[in-house]
Amino acid sequence: MQETKQQGFVVWMTGLSGAGKTTIALVLEQELKGRGLRIERLDGDVVRESLTRDLGFSKEDRDKNIERVTFVAKLLSRNEVGVICSFISPYQAVRDMVRAQTTNFLEAFVDAPLDVVMARDVKGLYQKAIAGEIPNFTGISDPFEAPLTPDIHVRTDQESVAESAQIIIDKLESLGLIPGVA
Ligand code: ADP
Repeated sequence: MQETKQQGFVVWMTGLSGAGKTTIALVLEQELKGRGLRIERLDGDVVRESLTRDLGFSKEDRDKNIERVTFVAKLLSRNEVGVICSFISPYQAVRDMVRAQTTNFLEAFVDAPLDVVMARDVKGLYQKAIAGEIPNFTGISDPFEAPLTPDIHVRTDQESVAESAQIIIDKLESLGLIPGVA
């Protein structure tokens, strides 16, 4: 049986906590798997409970967290798997390191203003961070370096989840990384 050749790629979603990275990643995963593509999803919250559960949120630990994830994304993407990653990953230099080490890397800025993500406060973390209960919290007491030239830019304060996911799918199709649907 001849298998259809698939290209490996990495969709790297970066953005503030609550911006919508995980939500969009789940929709994207479902859509692409539904098309019969080999897809793996790596999510910050999940990885931090397993592969990197020994790490905290200092700059050094954040870098190590992304380094380990990059190692996995590298192995998968070079073996023709599409990898969807959702990590706050606040530092541009670190995101550039991931780009350099993986195959067909696309930086996707999942963008929503701080006041919007604070109002959403899905995980109740902003309230705690403002109360000083969580140190090094991105957007509050730690920096977020917004991508200046992302490959993909979605605005979750202005788009629906489906619209943001579609923008990413359109980009993958236009680059020939996934086949278009007839
Ligand atoms: P992150 O992974 O970036 O921390 P989550 O995906 O966990 O963010 O949470 C984002 C929250 O924002 C969810 O509750 C989601 O339903 C909500 N939301 C509202 N509008 C959007 C949108 N257009 N895209 C993504 N999420 C949205």
